[in-house]
Amino acid sequence: MIVYEIFKSIQGESTYAGLPCVFVRLAGCNLSCSWCDTPYARVPDEATELTVAEVIEKVGGYNCPIVEITGGEPLLQEEASLLAVAFADRGYRVLVETNGSVCLSGLDPRVVKIVDVKCPSSGHAGSFLLENLEHISPEDEVKFVIAGREDYDSAIRFMEEFLRGRTEKVLFAPVRPQRSPRELSEWILRDALKVRLQLQLHTYIWPDERGR
Ligand code: SF4
Repeated sequence: MIVYEIFKSIQGESTYAGLPCVFVRLAGCNLSCSWCDTPYARVPDEATELTVAEVIEKVGGYNCPIVEITGGEPLLQEEASLLAVAFADRGYRVLVETNGSVCLSGLDPRVVKIVDVKCPSSGHAGSFLLENLEHISPEDEVKFVIAGREDYDSAIRFMEEFLRGRTEKVLFAPVRPQRSPRELSEWILRDALKVRLQLQLHTYIWPDERGR
């Protein structure tokens, strides 16, 4: 598989935020979000081809029980699902972050899916595959990255129309630096939303550093 980078850091997103985690970032993406924070991972120029066994070995060296397979869009590579199984078989807590536009049916049920549903400001509203709703379980998490009011309103509509009864782990993340966490927090409080505000912890700890 084509791997952009493997590194250990503090998980900055999801309900696992704050915990040490090893990230396996696969190269390539089928979208081009306007505010993408990992544009370098979308092109495979600086990536390396590794086997599943080689990735397992590298991750094993970090002595960390949580691993996230991310991208880019990791599920564009068929081996991503095999890698997730291999990690789960070895006792890791496995997170897979995906943009929701690729079918999730091949992922092992032990995997926690973190599904990024694109809002209008990304330029890819509607890219989420609705058939993926069948593969979202209560352990999975759904994330909306919010740049403004239009995004916020579209996220609420999606939650009400599609997420009821599937998962209560819903994450609202402000696009930085355009949207202040304070304003988004006040919207959430005023509307009594049952969502979790998500800040990218790693960007506060290591601003503008890759591999963190
Ligand atoms: S899906 Fe993720 S990696 Fe791909 S362009 Fe959007 S933000 Fe960037």
